[in-house]
Amino acid sequence: NATTETRQFEAEVAQVLHLVTHSLYSHKEIFLRELISNASDACDKLRFEAIADPQLTAGDGELHIDISWDKDARTLTIADNGIGMSRDEVIANIGTIASSGTRRFLAAMANEQKADARLIGQFGVGFYSAYVVADKVTVLTRRAGAPASEGVKWESDGKGEYTLEPVELAARGTTVVLHMKADEDEFLADWKLRSLINRYSDHVAFPIRMPKEAAATDDDAADTADAPEWETINAASALWTKPRNEISDEDYQGFYKSLGHDFNDALAWSHNRVEGSQSFTTLLYLPSQPPFDLMMGGRDERKGLKLYIKRVFVMDAAEELLPNYLRFVRGVIDADDLPLNVSRELLQQNRQLDRIKAACVKRVLDLIETLARDEPEKFATFYRAFGNTLKEGIGEDHANRERIAKLLRFASTKDASAKQVVALDDYIARMPEGQDTIWYITAESHAAAFGSPQLEAFKAKDIEVLLMSDRIDEWMLGSLHEYGGKKLQNVAKGELPLDEADKARQDEAAKAAEPLVARLKSLLGERVGDVRVSARLTDSPSCLALADFDMAPHFARLLREAGQ
Ligand code: ADP
Ligand code: MG
Repeated sequence: NATTETRQFEAEVAQVLHLVTHSLYSHKEIFLRELISNASDACDKLRFEAIADPQLTAGDGELHIDISWDKDARTLTIADNGIGMSRDEVIANIGTIASSGTRRFLAAMANEQKADARLIGQFGVGFYSAYVVADKVTVLTRRAGAPASEGVKWESDGKGEYTLEPVELAARGTTVVLHMKADEDEFLADWKLRSLINRYSDHVAFPIRMPKEAAATDDDAADTADAPEWETINAASALWTKPRNEISDEDYQGFYKSLGHDFNDALAWSHNRVEGSQSFTTLLYLPSQPPFDLMMGGRDERKGLKLYIKRVFVMDAAEELLPNYLRFVRGVIDADDLPLNVSRELLQQNRQLDRIKAACVKRVLDLIETLARDEPEKFATFYRAFGNTLKEGIGEDHANRERIAKLLRFASTKDASAKQVVALDDYIARMPEGQDTIWYITAESHAAAFGSPQLEAFKAKDIEVLLMSDRIDEWMLGSLHEYGGKKLQNVAKGELPLDEADKARQDEAAKAAEPLVARLKSLLGERVGDVRVSARLTDSPSCLALADFDMAPHFARLLREAGQ
């Protein structure tokens, strides 16, 4: 065909395709969920654009996703009547331009020989999962609002190039045709497709339809010449709009997975409806594990909290609706009273949104508190995964600082296990009478903290010290000076708590040591700020101490490493 144009995939996209074809072994069936989720996104986008321009859906207002197959031709087809793509969009979205997700996916896969195909959804490269089961993919698409003559046909065997061709398409939307690999017959069966849709895509909010069972296999019947009769096979409802007592745990977990960032069960969730001058629904989840991506250091991506307005998906608004330190939360906010034409810029200044955001933060903190109180094991799982992220809130969210601090857990000199299990409230409850300070030490590792000579005097006096060795701790402590009316104090700074007998002994020792101190000062000169007799040590002869406003030595080193 003279109008067919052949183009090269960008190098990184070609690499992704190579990995997808050769390294994703388990859970191959995930391709179907990925393609259905793209179709659903396309329907969401069209419904949203049609608010401003109702002409876009004129004559075909029922959005749906149709799955069909042909055993003889060995093809599986996923078709939607959503937004569709123009030629330029096809080029930008599938094939040519590598997305940030492409790079992160490659980095994540760098050391994997055989990987779980479910990973792919986390990186925004789900379309390519088609090549796990297909050796050729054809996409036919037409942008909503464009004339029939502006259809586009995209085709590729996934090996380095693809073709583009203009085609006449009677209807808007996108049809993806998978030409299945020789050994992937199992996906060309009615029951298999139904069970996959039920398992992975039940909570997609648009009807997913398949040809009625009889019509699909019966080639000779005269009536198959007509358009097939379709049957909806998913729940196709917006789960969060139902009352809580009508939703099972299984439904909640299924919906969580349909959000598409995690294939594990959620750890916990909170589902609420606020009625009043401003009504909204929140369904918020805590994952049980950090996403693969987060562990890879990918911090730029803030996805996973979807904003709906009266059940119409508007945008991913994690950044607008949640503070940074709660970025692990996933879910849905559905607001009744926001203007549907709201833009990201407007969202950032919207007063109503401030209320919704505050409500989200409260719900999430309530949820974590409930776990801490009632489900210690789940709380421990949560804390292992996200405790350090939560600590960022101490510096970020002044209004909730005390609530967040209450949720933190630390290692302690009263616990040899090195586990972070001691709450500030536990510490305060154990304080002997007369102690009014929460003591802590920061170091590069638990062992360094636990073995520090700074602790000798505290151990001798049986005063508990919290041991902090996470990277973020020093930064966090810069904003946490007080908790429960008690001062937090680094053992390396400030004065030890002394009783009268101690004081007398120390004065005596100081007198006796005067000549030694004078000699040390003259020897060390400029290299130290001061030389002092101290009650800090019981076994070691000397240690370095900090003036009240000095940085901890390992923190100073961190800053130097970071080039500050
Ligand atoms: P993601 O869905 O995370 O953006 P994908 O690799 O699944 O990543 O899809 C890439 C892009 O291709 C989508 O963002 C979208 O722009 C486009 N696309 C894929 N499938 C469709 C479809 N059925 N209709 C319209 N656009 C689509
Ligand atoms: Mg996708």
